[in-house]
Amino acid sequence: MTSSVSWHSHDPADIDVISLAKTLVRYDTSHNGEGADTLPMARTLREIWEQAGVESEIIATPKPGNVHFLARISGTGARPPILVLSHSDVVAVQRESWTRDPFAADIADDFLWGRGSLDMKGAGAAFSSALLRHVRAGAQFDRDIIYLADCDEEGGWHGTRWLVQEHWEKVKADAVITEGGWTLADGGDGTSPLIASMTCVDRAFGAIRLIATGTATHSSRPTDDMAIVRLAQAVTRIASSPMPVALTPLNREYFAAVAQRTASTALADAIGALLWADRAGDQPALDACGDAVIVASPYPWLHNAMLRATVAFVSQEGGKRANVIPRQASALLQIRFTPQGQSPDEVLSQLSGLLDGPGVRMEVVGPPGETAQQTLDRWRRDWNAVPAPTDTDVFQAWAKAVRAVYPGTMPIPAMFEAGTSGKPWQERGIPVYGIYPYAVDNATLTAMHGDDERVRISALRRGADLLYHMFGYFRTDAS
Ligand SMILES: [Zn+2]
Repeated sequence: MTSSVSWHSHDPADIDVISLAKTLVRYDTSHNGEGADTLPMARTLREIWEQAGVESEIIATPKPGNVHFLARISGTGARPPILVLSHSDVVAVQRESWTRDPFAADIADDFLWGRGSLDMKGAGAAFSSALLRHVRAGAQFDRDIIYLADCDEEGGWHGTRWLVQEHWEKVKADAVITEGGWTLADGGDGTSPLIASMTCVDRAFGAIRLIATGTATHSSRPTDDMAIVRLAQAVTRIASSPMPVALTPLNREYFAAVAQRTASTALADAIGALLWADRAGDQPALDACGDAVIVASPYPWLHNAMLRATVAFVSQEGGKRANVIPRQASALLQIRFTPQGQSPDEVLSQLSGLLDGPGVRMEVVGPPGETAQQTLDRWRRDWNAVPAPTDTDVFQAWAKAVRAVYPGTMPIPAMFEAGTSGKPWQERGIPVYGIYPYAVDNATLTAMHGDDERVRISALRRGADLLYHMFGYFRTDAS
């Protein structure tokens, strides 16, 4: 982009990204498993968008208060619409583990603190403020841009899957941009990040339950087949047997870019050895090199998730009273699969091989009404997902914006280690792209869905600027 483009000038009436992010974080939209109260926040969003002259609506779901918000910036129609998707609900907090009020939106130490500040109200504020800056400057886009703050992303039954079924005409688009790709600060404040990524495919996921049984009896006479012990042993065996490293073309490209950009020779060397072992088809070497990459990486858990299928232990049940040894204990495991990597069937067979002790079995867990076979078929379909193309104008606009806002940083396509509410579009063959528009360090990343969630203020400002550049390429007066 040339620097002479007139829309670079700042409009004092811009919606400031930080104050908007604070406003959004202050709404407690915690998902309780059955929905969240997103209506008050949707009303505020509606006021903000209507003040800028953009038509908007609140879409009620069968669950009172659990609503979607949608605004539509009308373009010339020269190009098909794109949809910008930013979920309005957040995961619940364990207040006693936080050092700050999770809904006060405190600003301290160059961070905005609060549940949702990172995932994804900060991103939502950046998307909105970037778009509204263009709108307020009188911009005309070459396409409609739909902004959707969806509900039930973190659980529930009336999320985007329900929305596309009930209101397809309102959310029909040629491409979707939502949460995903990370900008890795690599120890710095992110002004010159290691890489900036736009995700083109999400990991697939599914759940299994481990069920251990033993003798139910009086706790004064413990037996050698106690259900809780059997469960713990199975959990330990699985936790200490990571899935094999399985690289896909997308992940190879990603790690090669990290190796090229990192200042750490240890990390660059470990990735070099990893790619060599991959080319050689040497699985034991590949697994060993994967471990070396994780040790050398400033983002060990993110990179572990990009190297292999992962198993997370998320809840357990069993036993209620001190004087009773329970008959049964169970644990819920969430599995995330790399599309085109190790298949769900291979993962399940590795897991069942680890249950060779007596009294422990596993079952696949799906939503109510889905049979085990249907669940498995769904996992296989999700695992078959193909990355969205990078030769689209959305991907190219983002890459140009990265080069403008973070000079010297490499914009690269990537896999998202988590999932997004863009899935119903992806299933209809529509490309879904993901960006978290702020540079993050490993500690910030770990706080996502954890305690003391936060986002760096300077990174959020720069991210909003990047999005402003990106959307600028869709203006009719773009050069
Ligand atoms: Zn999210």
